[in-house]
Amino acid sequence: MKILVVGGGGREHAIIRKLRENPEAETIYCAPGNGGIAADAECVPIKATDLDGMVAFAKEHAVDLAVVAPDDPLALGMVDAMNAAGVRTFGPNKAAARIEGSKVFAKNLMEKYGIPTAKYRTFDSASEAVAYIETQNAFPTVVKADGLALGKGVVIARDLAEAKDAVRSIMEDKLFGASGNRIVVEEFLTGPEVSVLSFCDGETVAPMISSMDHKRAFDGDEGPNTGGMGTVAPNACYTPEIAAECMERIFKPTLAAMRAEGCPFSGCLYFGLMLTPDGPKVIEYNCRFGDPETQVVLPLLKTDLLEIMLAIDERRLGELPVEFSDESAACVVLASGGYPLKYQTGLPIEGLGADGQVPGATVYHAGTRLEDGVYKTAGGRVLGVTCTAPTAGEALRNAYRAAEGIRFEGVHFRRDIGARNHR
Ligand code: ATP
Repeated sequence: MKILVVGGGGREHAIIRKLRENPEAETIYCAPGNGGIAADAECVPIKATDLDGMVAFAKEHAVDLAVVAPDDPLALGMVDAMNAAGVRTFGPNKAAARIEGSKVFAKNLMEKYGIPTAKYRTFDSASEAVAYIETQNAFPTVVKADGLALGKGVVIARDLAEAKDAVRSIMEDKLFGASGNRIVVEEFLTGPEVSVLSFCDGETVAPMISSMDHKRAFDGDEGPNTGGMGTVAPNACYTPEIAAECMERIFKPTLAAMRAEGCPFSGCLYFGLMLTPDGPKVIEYNCRFGDPETQVVLPLLKTDLLEIMLAIDERRLGELPVEFSDESAACVVLASGGYPLKYQTGLPIEGLGADGQVPGATVYHAGTRLEDGVYKTAGGRVLGVTCTAPTAGEALRNAYRAAEGIRFEGVHFRRDIGARNHR
């Protein structure tokens, strides 16, 4: 089979390495890919958002399955375009991708179908939003841009001044462009956060092993939000009882709601959950594999990933047992100094073998390029160093040991991944 994976980060690298375990996966293309992915797939210089270019490539190379991993091409309708051209796909179509692409859509869906989430109101006028926040007078409060905002469209406002600032910069200064035409103002929830990715074929939902992300840049959950600085799976807070409750009250109802709305969800649906004192609630949906959650979840998947993807395309996920190892996995992200603000790229990376790997760990490449045989930094998050082991503590220790052996100027990584629950 010829497979095309769209994207070029650590998540795509993890997907590719898993797909390669099936000998049927003869050729794997990755567009655009990156320096490290090039060791595992044939990288093709097409931008992930170039719908026409991607479809033309898939047709020209008789691609059997296109896996569309990032949110932007999904929101633009790349799956619809591939399907129209007769290419089988993994990922939701444009209508189903709204579950991530519009927070107003997601919140209204949850309200209509009784799926637990934070209380909220939506606004398309800044003055009405501010008036509502003033009357509520409950802080902190949460202000969210409706559309995609590179993970930066959420402000936890501690007081009225911060809330007004957030509304103004999103709706009037258009910090995130048209994504800020509407906003959601919602109740601030508390409790541990859990990420649950799930395979979906429109009808059946098969949750994957749970994980814990670390979004802030610095130790102790300090500093600005990032794309994710590390992950651990499973998440120790997510007990079998909570998992059963989430299945009945959140996962199945979400799939049923999407069907009832005429946009059945197929692909990977990410549930960002908060375990509040009133039970688990949905903080957000993503319409794709999370990054870096994927880097700890897929290494623990025992069922063949390609088989799952094909079963989803044929709407027979329910016939397949989706099984995970009872081990743990940990991923430590090595970032460029200064990330997520200003950082330098093009710095040589020391400590990687010719294949971009190190002994005793799997290195998923996120922002790297290969130049004259030298791996160089090419983004904010550079590498994800992942280990699996019988316990999370051991996986973490091994991942840190491997991470210490990789160097580039200004390299930054958190020292406390998993520390809260897993040491
Ligand atoms: P991404 O897609 O990158 O994960 P996003 O921009 O879609 O991020 P959310 O996941 O909705 O944003 O929110 C980001 C973070 O803000 C959450 O992980 C959570 O920590 C916090 N957050 C969001 N909503 C709430 C809420 N209602 N109460 C408390 N914290 C919240």
